[in-house]
Amino acid sequence: MLALSLDELKKIVQEMSMPSFTAKQIADWLYKKRVSSIDAMTNLSVANRSKLSESYEVGAHAPIQVSTSKDGTKKYLFEVEGRFVESVMIPDGERCTLCVSTQVGCKMGCRFCATGKQGFHGQLSAADILNQIQSVPESQALTNVVFMGMGEPFDNTDNVLRVLDILTAESGYAWSPKRVTVSTVGLIPGMLRFLKESQCHLAVSLHNPIGEERGEMMPAQRAFPIARVVEEINRFDFTGQRRVSFEYTLFEGVNDQQRHVDALVKLLAGLECRVNLIRFHTVPDTPYKGASEERMVWFRDQLNKKGITATIRKSRGEDILAACGLLSTKQLMEK
Ligand code: SF4
Repeated sequence: MLALSLDELKKIVQEMSMPSFTAKQIADWLYKKRVSSIDAMTNLSVANRSKLSESYEVGAHAPIQVSTSKDGTKKYLFEVEGRFVESVMIPDGERCTLCVSTQVGCKMGCRFCATGKQGFHGQLSAADILNQIQSVPESQALTNVVFMGMGEPFDNTDNVLRVLDILTAESGYAWSPKRVTVSTVGLIPGMLRFLKESQCHLAVSLHNPIGEERGEMMPAQRAFPIARVVEEINRFDFTGQRRVSFEYTLFEGVNDQQRHVDALVKLLAGLECRVNLIRFHTVPDTPYKGASEERMVWFRDQLNKKGITATIRKSRGEDILAACGLLSTKQLMEK
């Protein structure tokens, strides 16, 4: 039942000749109280619970493994039909953010990314994505969810949009869209649907503003050049509550030069946005090396001087391979 909308639940209860308010009760049990069995929906009659159980189950399943970093970050491993995906819980003062996966592996092949190296092994259903949010022990304490784990969200747009609906609908989690950020390499068709159909924040994995160089690092650039991606984003309004940010991992000698600063300033001119500078964690078999701390500060200052808000992201969970670009379940799947 996970990831069914209120309207879909209404249809189910109608077909089962149950009173229509039962749908709202089920939605509350699923998304507000987040129970893992139909039996736990105790304000439904025993007869109705058993009728529902004949055809449905909640479909929640707990993570099968957890690794805890010395900084409190936790990486959860979920099994999805014999394959594996990871989610990362990042506590930070009052905030508790969960980074979720949208695919098993990824097709995008970014050359600096461990998930990209793993290749693509299948889509996650909306229920599989929502289950990560629902079944981590911290579910009720989460303040934010970011779609930045394994996979490219807009290569699985229908399922991602369905989860966003559940998270923000009154009958679902009833979260403000400000609590949710979806990250993309810039797959324009899915991104446009997301920008039109949802109010959640957008993050774009930029990593290089110079098209030719970006294409070397990120094959998606060839089909969806970053200049076009930004042009499309510019058609939407980010002056209010909704935010767009650009993720920029700094690689020594690759994308940390003055020409990159200049190209970034030109690319993002006039757009209300921020740039998040990310430290690179060494991924085995990649040709890249992270920029030094001094270079990161220099790059940030150059951008800030030219009127682009840029900040250096704190790195979390590096010791358990939970940091950006490090998620991979390749070894598990080869066992
Ligand atoms: S960085 Fe994101 S889009 Fe690129 S390969 Fe890794 S998971 Fe896929």
